[in-house]
Amino acid sequence: MLIGCIADDLTGATDLGVTLAREGLSVTQVNGVPGADLQVPQADAVVVALKSRTNAPEEAVAWSLAALDWLRKQGAERIYFKVCSTFDSTPRGNIGPVAEALLTALDADFTVATPAYPRNGRTVYLGHLFVGSELLSDSGMRNHPLTPMTDANLVRVLAAQTRGRVELVSYADVEAGAEAVAARITALRANGVRHAVLDATRDAHLEAAGAACLDLALTTGGAGLGMGLARALVAQGRVKRGAQARLPVLDSPAVLLSGSCSGATLAQIDAVKNDYPGFRLEPEKLAAGAAHLDAALAWAYPKLGETPILLYASAPPSSVSQARDALGQARAAQLVEDAFRRIARELAAKGVRRFVVAGGETSGAVVEALGVRALAIGPEIAPGVPWTWAVAGEPFQLALKSGNFGGPDFFRRAFEVAA
Ligand code: ADP
Repeated sequence: MLIGCIADDLTGATDLGVTLAREGLSVTQVNGVPGADLQVPQADAVVVALKSRTNAPEEAVAWSLAALDWLRKQGAERIYFKVCSTFDSTPRGNIGPVAEALLTALDADFTVATPAYPRNGRTVYLGHLFVGSELLSDSGMRNHPLTPMTDANLVRVLAAQTRGRVELVSYADVEAGAEAVAARITALRANGVRHAVLDATRDAHLEAAGAACLDLALTTGGAGLGMGLARALVAQGRVKRGAQARLPVLDSPAVLLSGSCSGATLAQIDAVKNDYPGFRLEPEKLAAGAAHLDAALAWAYPKLGETPILLYASAPPSSVSQARDALGQARAAQLVEDAFRRIARELAAKGVRRFVVAGGETSGAVVEALGVRALAIGPEIAPGVPWTWAVAGEPFQLALKSGNFGGPDFFRRAFEVAA
């Protein structure tokens, strides 16, 4: 395993996984702290998706160390700690404490950190993070309910979270190339610096950084620096292109499950409503007893075949607030998620192996219901949304889409990409 990754949230993990796969690496994603018994097929990169961004630092550290332990047992050559591209954290953590704990566990003395990803509008200049054309502290992130980012100076932000010294690998170094970055890193290490924030305003800077950081036991960053490392590994011939067998399209009916009520998802459903048979689940009817869900399943079974079928709770804001008024927000959401859990399980029992799921929470519920613990990342359907294949346990082919992702033709595109 060329890179073992620990991501502090699920969509961030997929973002990194897709980025590495785009560079030609074979990538497997593991959801949650892997159990000691979990075995995954060999891959260039394995990304462990945690949900540790806003937990207590002690918990985030414990999970990250457990993930590290498992990754090392699987043979990870280097470790990548994936954080948010807006460096989401509080003065208590969790970026600093987790990076410190990983360094200590790895018996390493130095790491770099950069959330820069120019293609997504995240640039770091003289240690200051920009979101598009705004400083982080002027962007909407300053009002984030859990991790308000009121300081764009990442050297200061990271220093507040760590005991070790924090310095900068500046624009001049990354602009001069990999050797200059490596020289700067050597100088910082010699001076007892433990963390360096790294400037990057274009992909070439991340490539220079990636090449200079290949020998570090730990690097920290957004998906961008992951790309830099991947390109360096490819340039060194460490990645055998095409070595990973093409992931096979599973011979199974396809089912779309949508619990997302985002505008993007509603438009995507509209785009296929006339072509795919659809059944709408209503929280109020689910609350009234099992009959509604039984009817949905009875409707679905005879329709499984060539054409994908669609089961959706997705509804416009007026219906969603109606359901919330009648049932309360938590109960409405729970009813819908439980319904999708049962649908996924019962359709799987009927042999369905291909699911497209819309909605972050909904995807979590479906993956859990299907008992999927690890996924191989396949071709991208829309930016950040790949087809994935379950690689531990029963075979499934899954596309898991967070609400706002994908264009209006997302569902149809999914079946063009892997038909
Ligand atoms: P997104 O990624 O768009 O946020 P999620 O699946 O994460 O989608 O969240 C949508 C939430 O809304 C889920 O908890 C789902 O159960 C709930 N939900 C879905 N349909 C309805 C509905 N018609 N009324 C109320 N809540 C709903």
